[in-house]
Amino acid sequence: MIKIENIVRPNILALKPYSSARNEFNGKEGIYLDANENPFGELNRYPDPYQKELKQKLAALNKVNNKNIFVGNGSDEVIDLAFRLFCQPEVDKALIFAPTYGMYEVSAAINNVELITLSLNKEFQIDLEKVKPYLSDKNIKLLFICSPNNPTGNLMNKSDIEYILNNFEGIVIIDEAYIDFSNSKSLINLINKFNNLIVSQTFSKAWGLAAARVGLAYANEKIINFYNKVKPPYNISKLNQKAAINSLENKSTYQDNLKNILIEKELLREALQQIDVVKKIYPSDANFLLIEVDNANAIYTSLVKKQIITRNRNKQVPNCLRISVGSSEENKKLVNALKNMS
Ligand SMILES: *Cc1c(COP(=O)(O)O)cnc(C)c1O
Repeated sequence: MIKIENIVRPNILALKPYSSARNEFNGKEGIYLDANENPFGELNRYPDPYQKELKQKLAALNKVNNKNIFVGNGSDEVIDLAFRLFCQPEVDKALIFAPTYGMYEVSAAINNVELITLSLNKEFQIDLEKVKPYLSDKNIKLLFICSPNNPTGNLMNKSDIEYILNNFEGIVIIDEAYIDFSNSKSLINLINKFNNLIVSQTFSKAWGLAAARVGLAYANEKIINFYNKVKPPYNISKLNQKAAINSLENKSTYQDNLKNILIEKELLREALQQIDVVKKIYPSDANFLLIEVDNANAIYTSLVKKQIITRNRNKQVPNCLRISVGSSEENKKLVNALKNMS
């Protein structure tokens, strides 16, 4: 077992956290004269700082304990707090596999933490031989694995992930923002085996709540306690907690949308295969397709002129565009627009 206290920054270990009014009293019934709230209105009270109702539902869904869940203001907060908890600016480092999600790099830069970037191999998988020399570097405190990866769309090999978990003594964050769309199971249950593992998920994609900003971290209770120690006291608004709870209570909507998106993804793939300017469509375990075209910059711009916005990933993967699977009509418009470019 890894001693998490040895990875946490000393100032965080020593920190005396803010204790909010709803922290010190968390019963249900009562006359609340403790938080200087307005006694009138609908949204006049501070929200539950620990999102207990939401966590209960998530715990049941994922067969974990409430104490293994942190709710963040989007995954962005899960990522940022990881840097603040574990990385001493200018001393510690983090490691990513590129091309990947841009927030890891931005968050490292904001926190003044050096980032080691190793490129994925031709199949967009982790090159274990390349990583091995870094696994014993004690100053590398965070290692991000995005699976399914954005923008490449593929799941990372489980055996490579397990090799890293068995040989790295910093914190491993597996970003599963797109796991719902894949045929693979979440690796959440590995948190019981590896106390240095954080699995992050989000309500922004398959659950359809990008506007609500609800991200999740599943980890050992020790790590969750450190997250709770540093988070802003009321980081998830009552409206957003409610939105997430509602979506969990309407699982059939989630399932219908998921099924629909996966059907549309295959239809989109088939349609794109017929188009001349599309040179390659990468396999995808997510709700988007990475496609290689003749000239990504030109095609991106032409699509924008037709008010179709894709993600130009030319700088990450030469001549590639990342296309989110839209509704049937949206996808048809994209396909027609591309047809007229050949
Ligand atoms: C979209 C996405 C997220 C979601 O971030 P939120 O802040 O929860 O909206 C997280 N990770 C990856 C890799 C993503 O592509």
